[in-house]
Formats: sequence, structure tokens, C-alpha cells
Amino acid sequence: MSLNPPKETVLDRFLRYVKIDTQSQEDSESYPSTAKQLDLLRLLAEELKDLGVDDAAIDEHGYVTGTIPANLPDGGAAVPAIGFIAHADTSPAVSGAGVKPVVHENYQGGDIVLPGDPSQIIRTAEYPNLEKRYIGMDIVTSDGTTLLGADDKAGVAEIMTAVDVLAQNPNVKHGTIKIGFTPDEEVGQGTKFFDVKKFGAKYAYTLDGGPLGEIEFETFNAFLAVLKIEGIGVHPGYAKNKLVNAIRVLADFITRLPGDMTPETTEGRQGYIHPYDLDGQAEHLTVKMLIRDFDMDGVKAKQQTLAGIVENVQTLHPKAKIKIEFDEQYLNMRYLIEKEPLVLENAKEAIRRTGTDPHFTLIRGGTDGAKLTYDGLLTPNLFAGGEAFHSKIEWVPVQVMEKAVETIVNLVVVWAENSSA
Ligand SMILES: [Zn+2]
Repeated sequence: MSLNPPKETVLDRFLRYVKIDTQSQEDSESYPSTAKQLDLLRLLAEELKDLGVDDAAIDEHGYVTGTIPANLPDGGAAVPAIGFIAHADTSPAVSGAGVKPVVHENYQGGDIVLPGDPSQIIRTAEYPNLEKRYIGMDIVTSDGTTLLGADDKAGVAEIMTAVDVLAQNPNVKHGTIKIGFTPDEEVGQGTKFFDVKKFGAKYAYTLDGGPLGEIEFETFNAFLAVLKIEGIGVHPGYAKNKLVNAIRVLADFITRLPGDMTPETTEGRQGYIHPYDLDGQAEHLTVKMLIRDFDMDGVKAKQQTLAGIVENVQTLHPKAKIKIEFDEQYLNMRYLIEKEPLVLENAKEAIRRTGTDPHFTLIRGGTDGAKLTYDGLLTPNLFAGGEAFHSKIEWVPVQVMEKAVETIVNLVVVWAENSSA
């Protein structure tokens, strides 16, 4: 199908959006965490209206939503409403103020040195996709002094451009489409006030992933382990055979943790145990540990390992009181998404129609999509094109952003085809 072009290209949109500073902030009292995110979010609501999305609005929390009504001859009642979501904030890790994007046209291979700070180099050894898949494409970077903000303004620009394409091509038939732009994803608060019911989509996709063709629908199962050690405090000068030092007990515990089950020694599908927070003194202390695994059996095995170490250390220190508890934080979104195969099948088909092989990758962390999925809105994550997120060498190919736009348009068409029959 050959389509009329959008009023504005995805590149031009992207270049406009990255120049607006939308950095979010940890431990803020307000929501969104920084008011400057609203500069972009308000603009997006306006631009959606200009593109004919009449109900586009921004709510009191900064969430931008809008509807493109179904245009199928039968009203599209048989086609589920599909949502597309991206986050407008950028990471607190690197400044997003005064971003000066640079377009490296017709990339021909080799490392890319960023002009504003030559110590910032995008190395093909670290980012093999550049030479393997993106030769001849136009690569967008920052000048090396700030992040770029492709995470996730690439996703924002792609969704906006897809809305634009649909506005210029009323002959493209689709069911109801819901658009959502959120603040504060980077500080883990992106769905805090997201009203799944009000949003009104049956299924959704975040455009917040990495390389071309990627679909993510698996997250860790995440549990928190809290270890409490109660020692016995006695004046150290008169402590022989009386004092029990919780810090020494902890040392015995920590040395027994398996060394091949840490974040720094695992990757891919491997899970880990990660002690990350310590609070206490010789008398008593509390340690928090993350347990992460893609499979529940792996979670259970890790819990048993920890319980076994507690028992073992307890026999070494019979007078100490050692306790460990486990709390669920979030579960692998795969368990829910797999129950509705069309959500992934249609995404794969939409990507295939752009001439790209779809592939699944794992998310070694939580995502807004995972939270939405457990709130009742199944939301896998699709590629937005960027790599080296949260750094000054962040980059995204223009042509991959164009493929993402195509994927969104294909996706609403595929949903209409596969649902109305
Ligand atoms: Zn992101």
C-alpha cells in the first residue's frame, strides 16, 4: 500500500521534541516530578488536536490522551481498541538541557566521534548493529554534551507521525486507536496515575524499545528479600561470651551467597540475588536484597538458597536472631500476555510487513508496560530504534524510526483484518 506522506517527517518531529528539556527527577514531592515535562506534554496535546484528534487532552497529572475513532464501514465494533504509549521524560542520569542533535547522514561504518566532546565516541565494538544493520542510514546523536532523548522521544515522535500518516490517509481502515503520553517513566512513576479504564484500550503497545524489529514481553519475576539480624549488645570491654555482633553475622551470611548469581555475573535469561541496601549497627541490622528470575521455579530456588544460608549461619551464631522474609514486587508480564496470542502475533505481522524480521528480547527489569499489563492492559514493548539509553552517546537511526511509524500503521490495519472476520 503506498501512502500519502505525513505533514511533518518523524525526523523533524523528533528534532523538535529533543530540544525541549523534560528530565524527570528522583524523590520529587510533585507530580510530574518536574514541571518542565509539561512543556512537551502540553505541546503534544495541542499537536494531536491539530492532527484531528478532537478529544486530545492533558489531565491534572500531565497524562496526554486522545482517540482516533474507528473508520471501518461497520463501525469497527468487532475490533478491539488498540493503544500506543510513550513516555515524554528523559533520564535523571544525564542532562537533557540544551540538546543539540546532530544527524550523521549516510553512515558508512566506523566509530562515531561526537563533535561537542570528542571523548564521547560511539564504538561499533559496543554497538555492532551500526555496521551490521544500519549502513547507509542517517544516525542521530547529541553533540556529546547531553543525552539525546531518543528514550523515549523517538517513541513519542513515531506515535505522533503515525497519527499524522493516518490523518493523511483516511483510506487506511482501522478500529479505535488510543494514544497516551506519560511523564516520569524514568523515575519509576510513569503509571502512577494512569487510569487504564478511562484510557479505554483493550490492548496497548509501548514504543520504548531498542533495535529494529524488537518486541519485548518478558520481564523478571521480582521479589524483595528482607534479612533481619538481631545481635546482643554488651559493653565491648566486658563482652566475652556474651556479645553477638550482627555485623559479623552478616559477614558470614554474605560470603555464603553464590558468586555466580549476582547482577555482575549474569545476563540474558539468568536470574540473580542482589543485596543493595544495608541499615544497622552491631546490635541489629536490616539488609534488603533483590531476587530476580524469569521463571518462578528460579525464584523459589533462590528463596530456598537464602533460607538455607540463614539456617547455616544461625547454627554458627546460635544466640543471634536471624529472620528472612520475601515480598512480591512484580511478576513476569509473559504469564498474562501469552494468554492472548494475537497481541504478539499481530505485532510480529506488522513488523514483517515493513520487511523486517521481528525478534523477541527480554527486559532485565520492570517496565511501565509490565505494570499496565498487571493493571489489566496487556502492553508489550516495541522497538523505537534508539541504543545507549541514559548516556551522552545515545543514538537512533532515522530509517529505524520510519520503520517504527510504519509498524504502528501496519499494526492497526492487522488488528482490523484479524478481528473483523
Ligand atoms: Zn524509556
